[in-house]
Amino acid sequence: MTKLLRQVFLEELGAVLGPAGLVSSDDAMQPYLAEWRGLYAGRALAVAIPDSTAAAAAVVRACAARGVAIVPQGGNTGLVGGAVAQSTDERPQIVLSARRLARIRHVDPDNYAITAESGCILSALQAAAAAAGRLFPLSLAAEGSCQLGGNISTNAGGINVLRFGTTRDLVLGLEVVLANGEVFDGLRTLRKDNTGYDLKQLFIGAEGTLGFITAAACKLFPAPNGMATALVAVATPDAAIRLYGELRSQLGDELIAFELMGQAALDLVSRHMAGVRVTLPGTHPWYVLLEMAGARTHGETHDALEQFLARATAQGLLIDALVAQTGAQREALWRVRHAIPEAQRLEGAAIKHDISVPVAEVGNFLAQATPLALRLLPGTRVIAFGHLGDGNMHFNLGQPAGLDRQEFLARWDDVSRSIHALAVGMGGSFSAEHGIGLLKVGELSRFRSPVELQLMRALKKAVDPDNIMNPGKILEV
Ligand SMILES: Cc1cc2nc3c(=O)[nH]c(=O)nc-3n(C[C@H](O)[C@H](O)[C@H](O)COP(=O)(O)OP(=O)(O)OC[C@H]3O[C@@H](n4cnc5c(N)ncnc54)[C@H](O)[C@@H]3O)c2cc1C
Repeated sequence: MTKLLRQVFLEELGAVLGPAGLVSSDDAMQPYLAEWRGLYAGRALAVAIPDSTAAAAAVVRACAARGVAIVPQGGNTGLVGGAVAQSTDERPQIVLSARRLARIRHVDPDNYAITAESGCILSALQAAAAAAGRLFPLSLAAEGSCQLGGNISTNAGGINVLRFGTTRDLVLGLEVVLANGEVFDGLRTLRKDNTGYDLKQLFIGAEGTLGFITAAACKLFPAPNGMATALVAVATPDAAIRLYGELRSQLGDELIAFELMGQAALDLVSRHMAGVRVTLPGTHPWYVLLEMAGARTHGETHDALEQFLARATAQGLLIDALVAQTGAQREALWRVRHAIPEAQRLEGAAIKHDISVPVAEVGNFLAQATPLALRLLPGTRVIAFGHLGDGNMHFNLGQPAGLDRQEFLARWDDVSRSIHALAVGMGGSFSAEHGIGLLKVGELSRFRSPVELQLMRALKKAVDPDNIMNPGKILEV
């Protein structure tokens, strides 16, 4: 794009967005170009921040007319480089941020539904639901900064999937600006609506490659009456899986979270996060953080969990357990779990995996992946933690002492290929909840069949024939 064309284009955007909605200086664009893990450096012509669906559609039309690609962005907490712009002179790109599309449009407690704009911060959505006596159950460590549109576009998982499903299970309807600037208005809150192809599903988990989500209608659930949370020490991941099986069969849907954390992950938290501590005496190889919630009163829920844990101790299913007695204790337990990604970041470089396998295979996966990682990367430190109840483990490998950071990170592809092949060979996935973005484009073409890849390309071509929306993410088109 010539300098003159760039100027004309920015003036067009400025006329649509006003001064508060357009950022084009290098300094001001920086927060939109930085990436959480520091793996990618973004480049963009500008950052457009519309405050209405109509303005977002006008931006997309202006981009489509000039062949400028669009990188949708929410809270920029994604972990695979999906929201990173890669503008070049030949293929200019803008970031299209949902930050000013942050209104809750309608809370409907009777219909157990909420309609909100895509730039709503997840914690704000949770709070709006709670204020109406309802629960919006999506919860993850980045909930103070990630946005509803980003959650939907990555089909985010988080800590309550085993009870409520992934984000896809929570979406009732969507409003999306398509690649040609038209608006798909599918903001319905119906539970039953068999009227041809379910178009909203296309955009869920599409990582911004098919359209820009401006609003969503989502399911709400009854707010839990009682809640109980426990930290449990176990000897092995297989012991944790047995505990999980018992808990689910005895407590059913009252079990809403079941997280596994290796001691090495907790060591990182103790080292880097002042005041965040595990509160069980001694050290143990593995810990489970579990939570139950439901219609029983607080006291009944608490008693049910304590009785279950006493029986499980007698059966030798666990080593030690601590049930949170107060809200503050519960928060302290969750703080430890949520601090792991940040502690890992502060520790230094890591090659990260976000795999899933059938729940019963998690122990088997860890037993094989750990020696494999040590063989591939002698001296690495395995940091394993994750959503055991969903069979989803974050299997991260720390930079070995004495190995240069760049040399270490250059090993990412070959190390990951082996770890991913192991998970896929067990009937699992190389990308459980973070998506493909830029990071796993090669892995998608490696592990998905030609038929699946061809279908994905055909879909992309049909919805976005000029490859305007987030080019280079998920698929090389
Ligand atoms: C500390 C930490 C913990 C995390 N824990 C979890 C976890 O437990 N489970 C989990 O699933 N993820 C987790 N994540 C990853 C991340 O938070 C989620 O993927 C989140 O859903 C991304 O939301 P975001 O608003 O930050 O999206 P962004 O990072 O801004 O974007 C993510 C993708 O969505 C697209 N996108 C964003 N907004 C829109 C829109 N309005 N329309 C169309 N496309 C859009 C982007 O182009 C990009 O491809 C974690 C991240 C961090 C930093």
